[in-house]
Amino acid sequence: MNLSKRLSETAAAHAAKPAYYFLDQATSYGELDGAVTKFASGLESLGVTKGDHIALLLGNSPHFIIAFYGAMRLGATVIPINPIYTQDEIGYILNNGDVKAVVALDLMVPLVGKVEGLLPKVENYIICPTKQDSAIEEAVAAHPKMKSFSEVLETGALSFEGPELDEDDVAVILYTSGTTGRPKGAMLTHKNLYSNARDTGSYLKMNEDDRVITTLPMFHVFCMTVVLNAPLISGATLLITPKFSPADIFRIAEKYQATVFAGVPTMYNFLYQYPEADADSLKTLRLCISGGASLPVALLKNFEQKFKVVISEGYGLSEASPVTCFNPLDRPRKPGSIGTSIMNTKNKVVNELGEEVPVGEVGELVVQGPNVMKGYYKMPEETEAAIRDGWLYTGDLAKMDEEGYFYIVDRKKDMVIVGGFNVYPREVEEVLYSHPDIVEAAVIGVPDPNQGEAVKCFVVSTNKDLTEEQVAEYCRQHLAKYKLPSSIEFIEELPKNTTGKILRRALKDHILQS
Ligand code: AMP
Repeated sequence: MNLSKRLSETAAAHAAKPAYYFLDQATSYGELDGAVTKFASGLESLGVTKGDHIALLLGNSPHFIIAFYGAMRLGATVIPINPIYTQDEIGYILNNGDVKAVVALDLMVPLVGKVEGLLPKVENYIICPTKQDSAIEEAVAAHPKMKSFSEVLETGALSFEGPELDEDDVAVILYTSGTTGRPKGAMLTHKNLYSNARDTGSYLKMNEDDRVITTLPMFHVFCMTVVLNAPLISGATLLITPKFSPADIFRIAEKYQATVFAGVPTMYNFLYQYPEADADSLKTLRLCISGGASLPVALLKNFEQKFKVVISEGYGLSEASPVTCFNPLDRPRKPGSIGTSIMNTKNKVVNELGEEVPVGEVGELVVQGPNVMKGYYKMPEETEAAIRDGWLYTGDLAKMDEEGYFYIVDRKKDMVIVGGFNVYPREVEEVLYSHPDIVEAAVIGVPDPNQGEAVKCFVVSTNKDLTEEQVAEYCRQHLAKYKLPSSIEFIEELPKNTTGKILRRALKDHILQS
């Protein structure tokens, strides 16, 4: 089985059922499957064949879903790219990823003019409209390598069969940002993607009656598997938003009686703080899903109490397609925990020698299962370092309790060592988040002449009168001495990436520059 085949099966069984709503327009499973087939066939007539690489530079829209499933139906490998990356970042991925065709927003047309000389391997640019713009339409029509998305669909045939797909063929390459060196392309096979969507969907009991809010960016694997592929496998209906805005989420939740919402912790913070929301605003939701970064316990409790809905936190990484753990729905969810291993996936905590550590001890989380990537594209050494003895090393520090629930302590590389003692930023952040006036917090290590490193906090507060000394005193009440911040800085907003994850790296750079 693979995702594209499964979509055709669902379409055959439920042709008229809405697969998604976008800008209040419904598209049925039958229509979606037909568009996917036509796009695959249209790509083929442009000369794209099985095994070719095709990049998507798109925001959340039906174009993304059609291009993603269409490319897979043809056996091409999809490389999703965040469209707001810089010219250099995009150029690197297109070249390193040996991309033959690009599907991009019309906003990219001027950029194509500038960079196409540097990208000799790209043979086709397929341009998606964001608005009616005759200048762009003319530019597309005049350019030998450019086609409009609708033109590709129109040239495609509905009778297209497509090649046989092998489960170990690479379906997607995800470029992960990493903190050092160039991004690495994690190769995910059809088996990786299908099994993880199926297992996550069944663990979270996704079903035909679900209406799932898809607001996370589709180019990110959290969205791709959890709120795109898993619901489509289950025959559910997606409620797609072009971008995240609390007003839109509350409107859509109410209008379409949404049952599932997935977001990163910062989104939960925005929804919780939204002044016009009340206890009934999310009353149709049966489940909220959090992942991508640790969800502060204080935020989880406040949110659940305000909206009377359970948040199930899970964990994953691009290299595992991504999900490895989730809080189960038929047992109590544990605040601060990423839950237990989802079906078919094994997680364990190991020491530096790769040996499993006793319950409650901190070590590196390693993962095994059908969801673990094939390797990094053209990077055999990095692949060997990441997958050892059949286990994927996540780079995250974790511990497990007696009931098999895992807790992420922090990223290995974010740990701060103060005078020989380990301080996990997350522990300090949890204390800061529990302060009633603090809405966001991030902790990093900074060089210290006496202790090697010291703890520095950045906080966003709703109370303009809150002082550094008051926050320091609060920390003294809740933390051991060596974990206390050496400095506290109030800022307007924490830097975040487009997925909403807080960028600790940018905070470190900010310190170096000041
Ligand atoms: P990405 O490959 O971009 O999806 O990032 C994966 C990383 O996000 C993981 O290695 C973790 O460091 C982090 N992450 C994901 N989910 C969680 C979570 N629930 N708690 C803490 N960190 C998380």
